Amino acid sequence: MVEQEQTTQHEFKAEVRQVLDILIHSLYSNREVFLRELISNASDALEKLRFETSRGAAVANPDLPLEIHITADKDKKLLVIEDTGCGMSRDEVVENIGTIAHSGSAAFLREIGDQKAQAEALIGKFGVGFYSVFMAASKVRLLTRSHRPEDPAVEWVSDGLGAYQIGPAPERPRGTRIEIELRDSAIEFAEPYRLKSIVQRHSNFVSFPISVNGEHANTVTALWREPKASVKSEQYTEFYKFLTHDSEAPLETLHIDVDAPVQFRALLFVPPKADEMPGLAREERGLDLYVRRVLIQHKNKDLVPEYLGFLRGVVDSEDLPLNVSRETLQENLAVTKMASTIVKQVLGHLQKAAKDSPERYATFWREHGREFKLGYTDYANREKFAGLLRFHSSREGGDETLVSLDDYAASLLPDQKEIYYAAGPSRAALVASPHLEAFRQRKVEVLYLYEPVDEFALEALGRYKEYDLVPVERADMKSLEKLAPAAGETAPPLSTEDAEAFDGFLSRLQEILGDRVDKVRVSERLAESPCCLVNPDGAMTSSMQKILQILNKDSSIPKKVLEVNRDHHLVRNLLGIYRADPRDPYLELVAEQLFESALLMDGYLRDPHAMVGRVQKLMDQSSDWYLAQKRQSGNA
Ligand code: ADP
Repeated sequence: MVEQEQTTQHEFKAEVRQVLDILIHSLYSNREVFLRELISNASDALEKLRFETSRGAAVANPDLPLEIHITADKDKKLLVIEDTGCGMSRDEVVENIGTIAHSGSAAFLREIGDQKAQAEALIGKFGVGFYSVFMAASKVRLLTRSHRPEDPAVEWVSDGLGAYQIGPAPERPRGTRIEIELRDSAIEFAEPYRLKSIVQRHSNFVSFPISVNGEHANTVTALWREPKASVKSEQYTEFYKFLTHDSEAPLETLHIDVDAPVQFRALLFVPPKADEMPGLAREERGLDLYVRRVLIQHKNKDLVPEYLGFLRGVVDSEDLPLNVSRETLQENLAVTKMASTIVKQVLGHLQKAAKDSPERYATFWREHGREFKLGYTDYANREKFAGLLRFHSSREGGDETLVSLDDYAASLLPDQKEIYYAAGPSRAALVASPHLEAFRQRKVEVLYLYEPVDEFALEALGRYKEYDLVPVERADMKSLEKLAPAAGETAPPLSTEDAEAFDGFLSRLQEILGDRVDKVRVSERLAESPCCLVNPDGAMTSSMQKILQILNKDSSIPKKVLEVNRDHHLVRNLLGIYRADPRDPYLELVAEQLFESALLMDGYLRDPHAMVGRVQKLMDQSSDWYLAQKRQSGNA
C-alpha cells in the first residue's frame, strides 16, 4: 500500500533498454511514426473502453466523449496527446510501459538482430509502440487514470535513458495524457499543420475523433459500412495502408456486404507482397473483428482458414452479441458462418481476377501461391480451389508460363482422360528425368511440381472435373501409347534369339544387384536412358516417399524396381555380352554402375567412393578402345 502512494524509481528491463538505445541513437527520416504509435495506443484504449461499456462494466465518468486530443506548444517545445480511453492502474503502467510484454517491441528486437540499419523499416512496418516516442522526446511524462472507478491516477516520468519514476498523480477524469518534451531536433512536431498532415497520413481512419490544437483532423468513418458505390479506390488504398502500415497499394480489395446466412460487412485486402518475416507475420495475422462498430478483437484468427492467412482487413458482424467472449469465438456459429462466406467470396473474387486479369493473378500467385496451396484441405471448396491452382509445365515458355488445370484440360490429346504431373526440385531436374521420357517423346504435357506441397495438393484432390490427376510414375504406359505413338527413331526389333535370352539377362541383373532391388523388369517409359528406378506398383510416388523420409529422418535407401530400356544401345550390347558369357565380369561392373547412376539421379547415393573407382575403371577400359580407333584412323 505504501508503494501506491510514493514516487519510486525503477530500472527499465534489459530488452527495453536495448530498444530505447536503438531508438535514441539512430537517425530516422520518418520519425513521425511515433505519433502513429501513440495515436494507435490511444485508439486501442478507447476501443477497449467502448468494449467494457458495451458489456455493461462500470467505468469512471461514463459520459466522457471518446476522443483523442493533440495539443502542441512550439515555444514550450511541448507536445501532448490525450485520450479518454481505458487508462492504466499503477501495476498496469509498470507491467506495460516498463517491460516488453507486447508483441510489437519483442518482435522488433527479435527481427532486428544486430542490424540496426533495419530499424527504420521495422519501426515503420510494425511499430515499437510507446517507446518510439523517445525518437522525438527528451523527456516524457505520462498521466493516466484507469476506467475502473476505484483506481487512482498515476504519473510516470522518464528520459528514456535507463530508469523511470512512478508515483501518484493529481486526480483526472479517465484515460491517458502523454506530455512530450521535444528534443531540439524534433521541434517540427510542435507545428499544428505538420501534426495534422501526419494524422491524415497515418491515422486518418482511427474510429474516434482526433483534434490538433482544437481542430478536427481525421475522417471518422467506418469505411466498410459505407455503400460500395460511394467508396473511391483511393479511399480503399488509404484504409489499407492505415491498417497494415504497408506503403504500397493492395493487390486485391473485396468489399463484402452479406445478409444471409449471417449479416456482416467486411473489407478485405490481398497485400501486394508476401510477408518477408513469416515468424513475426503469424502474430500479425488475422482480421479485426467488430460487432456493430465495436472492436471485439484485433487480428482474430478464426475468420479465415490458414491458406488465406495473407488476407488483411476488418469484419463487422450484426449478429454477434457485444459481450461475446473472445475465448469462445472459435466455436461460435455466426463466426463459422462468416468464415465460410468469406472463403467463398474470396475464392470467387480470385476466380474473377484470374479470368479478367491473368497478369494480376500471376502476381498474386507468385506472392501468395505457396500459402494458398495449403487449401487442398478445404474439402468444401475443392473444385474452386483446384481451379485457382497454377503450375509450371513441360509446355513451351519455360518457368515463366503458369498453367492452370483448365489450361491443361484445354490442350489434352483426343481421348486423354488424365492430367499428368511430376515432382522434382527444378525444371532442369525434370527435363533430365528418365521418368518423363515417354511423355516427352509423345508430346504429352506434364505439370512440373517444384514444391512438396504441390504434390500433397494434387494427391489429395485426386480428380479435377472429369480428369484423374496422375503422377507420371503411376501412369499406365499402355494407355499412353494408345494416346500418342512415340515419335522419333525406334530401335530394330530384337532377334528371336535375343528376345529369348532377354529374360535370362534380366535375371542375371537381378542376381548381381541382389536384394538392393525389388525386381528388374522391362521398361515402357524410357526412351533415352538405359534404365531407371521406380517404386513398386501400388506404392506412393518416389517424391512423396522422399518427403516422408526427410520428415521421419529416415536415411535408408528404399528398395525399388529397376526398369531396363530394351531398345537402348548399351542394353543391346550388354545382352550380346550376356549371350556370349552370362558370367562376364564386365556385366557386373556395368550393372553396378547403372544401378548407382540411377540412385544418384534420385538423390539416394550416399557414398560415391565405389562409383568413382568404377567409373575410372570403365574409362580406363574405354580409353584402350578409343586409342585403338584413333591409331586405326591414323590420328595418333
Ligand atoms: P503495444 O501497443 O504493441 O502493446 P506499446 O509499447 O505501444 O505496445 O504499449 C504497451 C501497452 O501499454 C499497451 O498494450 C497498453 O496496454 C498500454 N498502453 C499504452 N498506451 C496506452 C494508452 N494511451 N492508454 C492505455 N493503455 C496504454
